[in-house]
Amino acid sequence: MTRSRACPTCGTMQDFQKLDNAEKAAVRERKGERHYVDDLWRCTAVGCLTYFPAGRLRDHDLLPEKFRREAAVATEPE
Ligand SMILES: [Zn+2]
Repeated sequence: MTRSRACPTCGTMQDFQKLDNAEKAAVRERKGERHYVDDLWRCTAVGCLTYFPAGRLRDHDLLPEKFRREAAVATEPE
């Protein structure tokens, strides 16, 4: 399931999806054990780490660097 929102980082409309378990755990590590993570949405654009709580896009924040999605790298044949 995705939601289309104007991403404040990308500056364009992007698909957002709910955080997976690893991403939720990382947010809790930063924000505290009791931080509510069940309704957070992340931008699915390559290279973007923006997430926001449902309904509160202006409260957006960034996921840790390890969740950055890289563009698929085309390897040159040897
Ligand atoms: Zn984005």
